[in-house]
Amino acid sequence: MTEIVGTTRLLGVIGDPVEHSLSPVMHNAALAALSAGSNLDFVYLPLLVPPDQLAIALAGFAAIRLHGFNVTIPHKQAIMPLLQQLTPLAQAVGAVNTVWATSEGWVGTNTDVAGFMAPLYQQSWAGTRAVILGNGGAARAVVVGCAKLGCADIWVVGRDRTRLQQFQQSWQESPLSVTVQVTTWDNLSELLPDTTLVVNTTPIGMFPQVNVSPLDEPNISLLPATAVVYDLIYNPRPTQLLQWAQSRNLTTIDGLEMLVQQGAAALEQWIKRQVPVDIMRRAALQHLAH
Ligand code: NAP
Repeated sequence: MTEIVGTTRLLGVIGDPVEHSLSPVMHNAALAALSAGSNLDFVYLPLLVPPDQLAIALAGFAAIRLHGFNVTIPHKQAIMPLLQQLTPLAQAVGAVNTVWATSEGWVGTNTDVAGFMAPLYQQSWAGTRAVILGNGGAARAVVVGCAKLGCADIWVVGRDRTRLQQFQQSWQESPLSVTVQVTTWDNLSELLPDTTLVVNTTPIGMFPQVNVSPLDEPNISLLPATAVVYDLIYNPRPTQLLQWAQSRNLTTIDGLEMLVQQGAAALEQWIKRQVPVDIMRRAALQHLAH
């Protein structure tokens, strides 16, 4: 932990709830390592902000010159109109997870996209089909990530037709040219045989409901042998979904790397230097093992 002195500056994460966030553990480990032998002097705190206090919290953060902060549920969309500037990426995603202070006010961006894409660069995705399970906030970053990777055919699977239609329409106004097709869960078996990437963005399978999976074994058996199954959940590792995919020898990716890489991208934005990603990953893993 960094020694807190009179010059120490503040970073943090806002959310409600925020007590389960792994971000303080990851960021303080990196900040402590970076501060050794340098003049870098920051701490990172969890900041519980109820939804009806968001605007007042932001004004307070400006008053105390908070350097920057992460944004988690339920503020990722609500904070957008309160910021003075949004990056094109945040506008494209329609959600902000990283904010920093400038002389003109707060700037918001989205590092979830970079975090999601980080484990996917080993192969080419041009012309492939991606199937995204769920149509919530994380699915928006995944859609942008899949589009940036070059996936030709992006399907989003949901359970509520109205929300699915709204999700699809929202991309028609997007600055990115993203074409998203939407469908309900009962049509999955038609999509899976030609799918190269499946991404679970629902909380199905997350601790403590560890024995459930968004795809059952018959559905997983429909995927081609070259398919990659990616679950944004990082507790447990692996989820039931990934265990079934592994038993079919499919390539699997869990949500830890996305978590670490979105955090690393945020920290790099705030402190403008290379950050020790390994230290952040180790700190998150150690904390999860407790
Ligand atoms: P969210 O906005 O609440 O969206 C969740 C989505 O899952 C919604 O579309 C919801 O459908 C769907 N869903 C929930 N329960 C379902 C069920 N029983 N059956 C079918 N669909 C269901 O949440 P989020 O922010 O996108 O986060 C989703 C997951 O991603 C969480 O597990 C979160 O921890 C994880 N995540 C991980 C990272 C990372 O860095 N690894 C980052 C962000 C999120 P409806 O719209 O119909 O309700």
